Amino acid sequence: MRAAFDVLKAASEADRTPPYATRLDRLRRLMALTAQHQHRIVEAISADFGHRSAHETQIAEIFSTMATIRQNMRHLRSWMKPRRVATPIHMLPGRSRLLRQPLGVVGIIAPWNYPFQLAFTPAAAALAAGNSVMLKPSDLTPRLSALLRELVEQSFAAHEMTVVTGGAEVGAAFSALPFDHLFFTGSTSVGRIVAQAAARNLTPVTLELGGKSPAIIGADCKLDEAAPRLAYGKLLNAGQTCVAPDYALVQRERVPEFVQAMQQAVAAMYPSVADNPDYTSIATPRHHERLLRLLADARDKGARVVPLAPQDGSGACGRKLSPVLVLGAHDGMDLMREEIFGPLLPVIAYDTLDDALAYINRGERPLALYWFGRSSAERERVLNETIAGGVTVNDTIWHVAQENLPFGGVGASGMGGYHGEHGFRTFSKEKPVFIQARWNSFGIFRAPYGRPVERLLD
Ligand code: NAD
Repeated sequence: MRAAFDVLKAASEADRTPPYATRLDRLRRLMALTAQHQHRIVEAISADFGHRSAHETQIAEIFSTMATIRQNMRHLRSWMKPRRVATPIHMLPGRSRLLRQPLGVVGIIAPWNYPFQLAFTPAAAALAAGNSVMLKPSDLTPRLSALLRELVEQSFAAHEMTVVTGGAEVGAAFSALPFDHLFFTGSTSVGRIVAQAAARNLTPVTLELGGKSPAIIGADCKLDEAAPRLAYGKLLNAGQTCVAPDYALVQRERVPEFVQAMQQAVAAMYPSVADNPDYTSIATPRHHERLLRLLADARDKGARVVPLAPQDGSGACGRKLSPVLVLGAHDGMDLMREEIFGPLLPVIAYDTLDDALAYINRGERPLALYWFGRSSAERERVLNETIAGGVTVNDTIWHVAQENLPFGGVGASGMGGYHGEHGFRTFSKEKPVFIQARWNSFGIFRAPYGRPVERLLD
């Protein structure tokens, strides 16, 4: 691994600012690789998961990654340009600008839940910004990780981008390398370890972490409109999505109506689960058992579990887990203490909006927050009185797909961000440059100080 890093480092030192044509060519190769091998990517992820909906892979991995690469290609020339910066009057006629320079070698650690997209979208931004890239995908998606390695080896020279595979031990050695930037997507607990390792090298980090993202069902929300959108965000990838709504906050008197709306919405989307190609499996036996344990713990502590896909009842079908609502959830239950990352939706009943906001603000800062309703006054209160990585109003997930918005967490859900130009800037050093003019008044700021500078400071 160290040898592979040294090759990348030497190349980035030899060519500190790769020109537009080099970067564009790298992005084109990334695009071609994705387009040409999309069916292999779909199959590899599905085999790793047990079953992953081919449509979900097409939308959330292939399409979204290609859209990112395309956007980087389209804007590359303008994003690379130095930015002109206003110069204060007393420094005129000097000029100021910001140069966007590559950082050098960027390390990217990716998780298993969207193993292609979360590896290649940051890689596209890092390559666009002129860096070389070393990528470590997850060991929990071994087929996809091996495929990434093979495809990157075919399409990129060892000094441009390389893939190393392995689990926690490899990850630990990887994060100890003296990268110029380390970009980590994964759990908050591993993010903490990675940040500590990076700190030893003073390597700056972007941490894209997880957490419990709430969905607030507002007082005047139309439940027949909200339920399908909430179910979409919760059941995409069977809930194994960092920005999935983790739990729902529902006005106490509307809980029965909410249950009915969710049952209808899920029945329309997934009339069955076990044999439904649109419904994804839980990725590993360990994650599957964990979710069953969360459910058992909630039941033991008094929760009522309501199935959302009636034909299958609740419970497991192979490694597919039928979606359920968990009524009467409270903080004593494990599923309200951990990020759920599966198709279980606890419902927390609230009496007033104040109570709902206080509940959210008692916890860690979430990666995403969702609010459904029509009242702009209530919406503004929710936006102003909570802190979250990002928000979608009247739907779920979509703020992440809006490439022009930065994506990233806050507090325990992460630091830094990317997507669109924000990604380009994350992987660039914006170098401030002041160009002094030949004729200027700066002499008054040098000793021996005299009247002009005294007058200026008066
Ligand atoms: P994880 O933290 O277990 O693993 C992430 C990566 O870190 C993997 O490549 C893993 O091999 C590696 N790793 C494990 N131990 C390591 C160590 N000690 N040092 C360095 N690397 C190590 O996360 P996961 O289970 O793969 O993914 C699920 C988590 O990721 C959830 O919490 C989810 O919310 C979060 N996530 C966040 C985003 C986001 O964009 N914010 C996106 C997807 C997933």
